[in-house]
Amino acid sequence: MALIVQKYGGTSVGSVERIQSVAQRVVKTAQAGNGLVVVVSAMGKTTDGLVKLAHEISTSPNRREMDMLLSTGEQQSIALLSMAIQELGQPAISMTGAQVGIVTEAEHTRARILSIETDRLQRHLQDGRVVVVAGFQGISSLIDLEITTLGRGGSDTSAVALAAALQADCCEIYTDVPGILTTDPRLVPDAQLMSEITSDEMLELASLGAKVLHPRAVEIARNYGVTLVVRSSWTEDPGTKVVSPIPQPRPLEGLEIAQPVDAVEFDTDQAKVALLRVPDRPGIAARLFGEIATQDLDVDLIIQSIHEGNSNDIAFTVTQNSLNRAEAVAAAIAPALRNQIDPLAGEAEVMVDRRMAKVSIVGAGMIGRPGVAAQMFSTLAEAGVNIEMISTSEVQVSCAIDQDDCDRAIAALCQAFNVTRSPAKSIGGHRWQQADQLAPPVRGAALDLKQARLAIRHVPDRPGLASRIFSLLADRNISVDMIIQSQRCRLVNGIATRDIAFTVAALDADEAQAILQAAAPELGYGEIMVDRSIAKVSIVGTGMVGRPGVAARMFEALSKEQINIQMIATSEIKVSCLVAETEGTRALQVIHAAFELSGNERIVVPA
Ligand code: ASP
Ligand code: MG
Repeated sequence: MALIVQKYGGTSVGSVERIQSVAQRVVKTAQAGNGLVVVVSAMGKTTDGLVKLAHEISTSPNRREMDMLLSTGEQQSIALLSMAIQELGQPAISMTGAQVGIVTEAEHTRARILSIETDRLQRHLQDGRVVVVAGFQGISSLIDLEITTLGRGGSDTSAVALAAALQADCCEIYTDVPGILTTDPRLVPDAQLMSEITSDEMLELASLGAKVLHPRAVEIARNYGVTLVVRSSWTEDPGTKVVSPIPQPRPLEGLEIAQPVDAVEFDTDQAKVALLRVPDRPGIAARLFGEIATQDLDVDLIIQSIHEGNSNDIAFTVTQNSLNRAEAVAAAIAPALRNQIDPLAGEAEVMVDRRMAKVSIVGAGMIGRPGVAAQMFSTLAEAGVNIEMISTSEVQVSCAIDQDDCDRAIAALCQAFNVTRSPAKSIGGHRWQQADQLAPPVRGAALDLKQARLAIRHVPDRPGLASRIFSLLADRNISVDMIIQSQRCRLVNGIATRDIAFTVAALDADEAQAILQAAAPELGYGEIMVDRSIAKVSIVGTGMVGRPGVAARMFEALSKEQINIQMIATSEIKVSCLVAETEGTRALQVIHAAFELSGNERIVVPA
C-alpha cells in the first residue's frame, strides 16, 4: 500500500461540482488500496474575498485576527470535500492544522512550519479513512494553540511538509494547468508542458514568477527528497514530475527553519576576463560570447554592470587553462568597440586576473531569507577577503575572490554557517555531481516585470562595504537579486570607488532607496538611482553546467531583435538579463524560440 498526499488548489474545489469531481478522484485513489491524505485550499477566490473584507474594516488589520479570519476559508473546503467523499461511500475525516498538530513559528500571516505530529493522522489512516487536511494553516505551539497561516499560496507547502513528515511515497499537486510549462503561455502562446524538471530548476523558475508551485514547497521537497508531481485536476495526464537528488538525512524537527546553508563549495580553477568601457548598444555581449563559444570555451559566471556614462563593463570567468584563448578573443574584439557617442571615453580595455577562486554557500533554506547572503558578505569581510564578483541564485550565493584567500574564506564560511569541513572540493556535498548530461541546456524561460533596479554610485572600495549595504536591506527583510559591482575603479576625492547595482522587488524599491540614502553620509557613497521601467528575462537549466555557448545563444537572440541588454547576471544554472520594460515580452518570446522550447501543443490556461 502506497501512502500518497494529494493537494487540490482553490480552483479545483471552486464549486460544488468541482468538489464532487475531486472527491471521485480521491475515492478512486483510495479504493486502489492507497493510504491518502488530501490537502485543500480555500474554494476559488475565498481568501482574496476575506482579505478584502478585512481591509474594509481596517487599513492595517491585526495579524493575529487576519490568521483567524483567513484560516476559515480552508475550514469550509475540508468539511465540504470530506462530505463529498463520504457521499461516495468512502470513510473520510477533515482536520484543521491545529487538530493535526502542524506546529509553526509564532509569526502570524507568514509562519514557517516547525514540526508535524503524525500519530493522529496515522491512526485515521490505519482505520481506513481518507484524511482531509486544511492547507495553509498551523498553530504556534501545542500549548498556545494560536492559529497561524503560512503566507499566500501556502497550501502547497502544507502538502509537501505533510508528505515529508509522513514519509509518503509521493505528493501530487492538482491544479488548473496541465503541469509546469516552459514559460508563461499568456505571453508565449507556444509554451510547452515539461514532463520533468529538477527541484533546483523549479526553485529558480518559481522565484522568477512561475506561479504553479510555492517555492517553499519545492524547498521542502528538495530537502527531504519528496517525489513531487504537478498535474491537472481535470484530466488523467501525467503532468510534470519535480525530481530531487537523494538528500542527506535531516531531522524533521525544525522542518522549515533548519540550517539555511548545507554546503560550502569552492572551485580554485577560475580566471577572470574583464572587458571595460564597451559601448551600451545591442549586440556587444552577443558578439563577445559568440566568439568565445566558437572557441568552445566554457564560461562560468558572467556579469555586466550598469553603464557609467555611455559604456558598460563585462566580466566573466573561465577555467585557468582557457584563459589565454578567452583573453585573445576579448583583445581581438576590443579595438572595434570604440565608443562612437563619446570618443573621449576611449577604447575598450581588457583586464585579466589569472588566479581566482569561487566560493559558494548552498542550501534551499536561504530562500526568502535575505540575511543569509548578507552574512556571507560580512563573514568574508571579517576574514579580510575582498569580493570581486557576486553571483546569486535561489539556493546559492557565490563570490569570486583571489585564490590566495580561498582557504581562509572556506574556513570562515564553514564556521559561520556551521558546515563541517571535509577534504572534498565541496564541503557538504556537491549539487552538480548528478547534473544530467542528457538534460536540455535550458529547461524554461521566465519574465519578471515586478523588479526595480537600484544603483549606488561611488561606493568606496573597501572590504566590508557590500556587507554593510546588504545587511541594511536584509534587516528590513528586503531580498536582493542580480548584485553587480562595476569592474572599474574610479577615484573620487582621492578614494577608489566602484558602483554597485542590484535589483529588488519593485514594491521594496522606495524603502530600499530611503534606507540607503539615510546611510550614505556614514558609508560615504554617492547618489542612489532607481529605475522601475525594467524587465528581467531569464533562462534556467541544470543542463547548462559545463556546456559552452548557452549564454551566447541568449544574447544573440536579443541582439537579432535589437534589444539592448542593460545588465547581465548568471548563476550556475541561470542567466538573467535586464532589458527595458517595454521590450520584456518580446525578449521572452525570442529567447523561448531560440532554445527550441516552443512546440505545437496548445496549452490552455485559465486567465
Ligand atoms: N488559500 C490560501 C491562499 O489563497 C492558500 C492557498 O491557496 O494555497 O493564499
Ligand atoms: Mg496555489
